[in-house]
Amino acid sequence: MIKINFIGTCSGTEPEAGRHHCSLVFEINGIYYWFDAGENCSHAAYTSGIDVQRVRAVFISHMHIDHIGGLANLIFTINKVARVKKTEHINSHSYDIFVPDLDKLAAVKLIANAHRKGSGVGMVDHKITDGLLFEDENIRVSAIHNDHLREADTGDWHSYSYLIESEGRRIVFSGDVHYPHELDPLIADGCDLLIMETGHHKVADVCEFVKSRNIKRLIFNHHGREILSDPAAAAERAKAIFPNASIANDLDIVEL
Ligand SMILES: [Zn+2]
Repeated sequence: MIKINFIGTCSGTEPEAGRHHCSLVFEINGIYYWFDAGENCSHAAYTSGIDVQRVRAVFISHMHIDHIGGLANLIFTINKVARVKKTEHINSHSYDIFVPDLDKLAAVKLIANAHRKGSGVGMVDHKITDGLLFEDENIRVSAIHNDHLREADTGDWHSYSYLIESEGRRIVFSGDVHYPHELDPLIADGCDLLIMETGHHKVADVCEFVKSRNIKRLIFNHHGREILSDPAAAAERAKAIFPNASIANDLDIVEL
C-alpha cells in the first residue's frame, strides 16, 4: 500500500489558518519519501506519527520558499531525533536529497547544521536532471523540467515535476508548472493519480486538462486563492467537469 500524507497544502501565500506550505510524504513498506519541504513540514509530520528516522530520500521540486521553507528544519529534525533517541537512521549512514540547485542547498545546510556537534545523519546530495533519479525496492522516481521559472530561453532548468512509480501505480506530482501540458511526458499513456498545484492555475482549466487524458484521479494541492477563498465551491466546480477530483487539506492521508 502507498500512503500519501499531505503535510502542507498551501501555495506561497501569507500565513493561512489551518494550512501550511507545500509538502508531501509517501510511506511505502514503512519507509518514507519526502516531496517538497514547506515551512513546518517536519514538525507537522513528526507530531502526526511520521518517523523521520525512516526517511530514505527527499525530493525538492524547486527552491522557492513555499517548497523549502521547512527544509533546514527537516535536516535538523532528522539529526536531532537520531541523537535524542540514540538510534541509527534506517540507512545507518545517510539519506539522499535531490534538489535543482546545489548552491542553495549548501546555504540551507549551513543554517540547519550551524549548531551541530558531531557528524549526525549523513546526506547524499544530488542535482536533479531529467529522467530516472532514484530507484529502490519500493519506488522509482523520475523527473522532468518545467517552465515555472521561465527558463526556456536559457535551457538551464531549476524547476521539476515528478513521476512516482510504486506497486504498479503511477502518480504524477506537478510541483509548480507554467502550463499543465508540461506534465504530458510524465503522464504518458495515463496515470492513477495526479497531484496538481493550483497556485498558478484555474480549477476548471486543470479539470479540462485532466479530462482529456487517461488520468484516474485528481487531487489538488498547493492551493491558490480560488480554492482558499471557498474550498467547497471549488470542489463542486471541479467535480462538475471531472468527478474524481478532490481538494487536499493539511494532514489528509490518501491510500492507494
Ligand atoms: Zn509554489
